[in-house]
Amino acid sequence: MGKLFDKLFMNGNFFTPYQEPKIDFVGVKGGKIVKYGGKDELKPYDDAAEIIDLKGKYVYPGFTDAHMHLMVYSQKNLYEVALNDITSKEAMMKKVKEFIHEKNIESGEWIIGSGWNQDKFDDTELPDRYLLDEISKEHPICFTRACYHICAVNSKALQLADIDENTVSKNGGRIDKDTKGFPTGILRENAMELVTKVIHGIKDKERMKELIIKGCEDLAKLGVTTVHTDDFPFVEDKEVLWEVLKELAIKDALPIRVVLQLRATEVEDIYRYKKMGMQSWERINNLVVGPIKIIADGSLGAMTAALDKPYEGDIENFGLMLMHEKELDQLIYESFKHNFDIGIHAIGDRTMRVILEIYEKYQHVYKKKGFRPSIIHCQIGSKEILDQFKKLSIIANIQPIFLNTDWKIAENRVGKERLTYSYCWRKYIDMGILCVGSSDAPIESFNPLYGIYTAVTRKDLDGFPEGGWMPEENLNIKEAIHMFTINGSYLSHEEDIKGSIEIGKYADFVVLSDDLCKINKAYIKDVTVEETIVGGEYIFKYA
Ligand SMILES: [Zn+2]
Repeated sequence: MGKLFDKLFMNGNFFTPYQEPKIDFVGVKGGKIVKYGGKDELKPYDDAAEIIDLKGKYVYPGFTDAHMHLMVYSQKNLYEVALNDITSKEAMMKKVKEFIHEKNIESGEWIIGSGWNQDKFDDTELPDRYLLDEISKEHPICFTRACYHICAVNSKALQLADIDENTVSKNGGRIDKDTKGFPTGILRENAMELVTKVIHGIKDKERMKELIIKGCEDLAKLGVTTVHTDDFPFVEDKEVLWEVLKELAIKDALPIRVVLQLRATEVEDIYRYKKMGMQSWERINNLVVGPIKIIADGSLGAMTAALDKPYEGDIENFGLMLMHEKELDQLIYESFKHNFDIGIHAIGDRTMRVILEIYEKYQHVYKKKGFRPSIIHCQIGSKEILDQFKKLSIIANIQPIFLNTDWKIAENRVGKERLTYSYCWRKYIDMGILCVGSSDAPIESFNPLYGIYTAVTRKDLDGFPEGGWMPEENLNIKEAIHMFTINGSYLSHEEDIKGSIEIGKYADFVVLSDDLCKINKAYIKDVTVEETIVGGEYIFKYA
């Protein structure tokens, strides 16, 4: 006979907000919580193969990041030039030249970078082909803006992509041209495909494995035990990635739990996923097939999020819907029909309104199938939009950390009036709309403590603005923790098996240096993740 527990976690301060009195120990068997209670409730027969003394540390359910791009994060981290901290064009040139030199990149090979943001430059001008040509005319260069909705390329890249004065972008994209009609090197939204399609996607199996595993390990260091990730557009062959993921899952080699968001831009993509044997909410060990992911508009920073009224100070610009309503309708219809749930990227009010109308049209279908459709980002809203969310039980997948950058630009983009229903997470929660937390990394850091901090303080990571940005929209600490734990589990139909410290659920924990409920809010972002545990097994210990 084995012991009653594989592991007994003792002397912990467990986050169990609905449990009175407080529990002190958790017994784990087969990766799941089988018993818990106060100190005096431990019985002599509660024997354990291993006893872990938590020494009064603070234990939370493992964090969930409900939307990011795991492989893109790793690829960027390991193989690309990071432009996030660049504050001038000169600095960009210097950094990239050094990168080419250090990595010894041969001429003809692509130089890929991302993270630049012209709002950080003195002149706030977009970097163009002429600037990038000064870096190199031998290497094709493609630098994506921090929002991933605009890219800047050099002449060599334009040449390889066959873009000249006669090229027109397909719908939902724009090739910027100078007064003489020549491309400036700036490509927006769908026009970026012209270049990205000549840059080869990731195709090597070993590279894919490396990117997934290293990404999961980095997430574990920050207490993330479940990640929802959208990676299929970045590989050359979706089937190969699916094979790699299945292999890792079957061997139990995924360090954390992974929920796949399946990017689709046309109905054929849905049929392809179907043919690959996928169906939303099926699982293989740590791997779960998630929803179809659709991108319906651009970003606020790039002024490509689709709005009902024009951008502030730019009366011609309403942003861009990346597909026609009819196409969106068809994608949504086909997804539900083929047993896929849905999550749609929407930032502007026009996009959200259109999507909610389509969701409403098919509500009988998704409700019957038990699906939980969501909108990812939900930045610029309105009273009507929030009412629709509530009425249709649509989940809001939000990134509180976006506030870190956006509080400085949002009013400039949409004016004061529209802000009343923008980034208004307090209103969402008060209306009973379920909010789940995510980071959209590598766009922003995936540190969930940053997300929780911004949600409760409404301040950026430097503590600005004083008093918080629209401080009336702040969340309380429990709400913010729930967004990054149990609510994320609800999104993936797993609220019965994980997301809180309860009997029968997976022993997925994050051990923190401080009590998030008691610490001064300003310090939440600095709390240390000491240990991360998935299914009762340690996957990270702070050295
Ligand atoms: Zn994303």
